Amino acid sequence: MAVRYDQTRKRIICRWEEPTRIVMDKKEGVIKRSRMITVKVNENGKLNSKDRRRHEKHPMFPYISRFNQLLNKMNYFPEAEDGYTCAVCGAAEQVSPHFDPRTQSVVWLCGKHSAQSPEVDA
Ligand SMILES: [Zn+2]
Repeated sequence: MAVRYDQTRKRIICRWEEPTRIVMDKKEGVIKRSRMITVKVNENGKLNSKDRRRHEKHPMFPYISRFNQLLNKMNYFPEAEDGYTCAVCGAAEQVSPHFDPRTQSVVWLCGKHSAQSPEVDA
């Protein structure tokens, strides 16, 4: 499970993998299917009400909501200020915020290291 904020699309993106049963040639198997929900963040930092209504019953929604609260506490919206650096390499360019569910905190990662964003089993 990985949660991040996409500054270009102004959306919080939550991705996870879900075991899905499939039948192929009459044999049953389980594959891990990649799933995703996204929630738009308004200029004022609030979650878009339409997306909120659509996803609020989803088991992943509390992570999105918590992440949004943390970003608001940092006065992150409507525009991110400079001065954040990647937690892995210290780069200051193209860093974006990710949610670390283990520590319930925001982690900044550059484009190169966002693939290593904190993940836990959903
Ligand atoms: Zn980095």
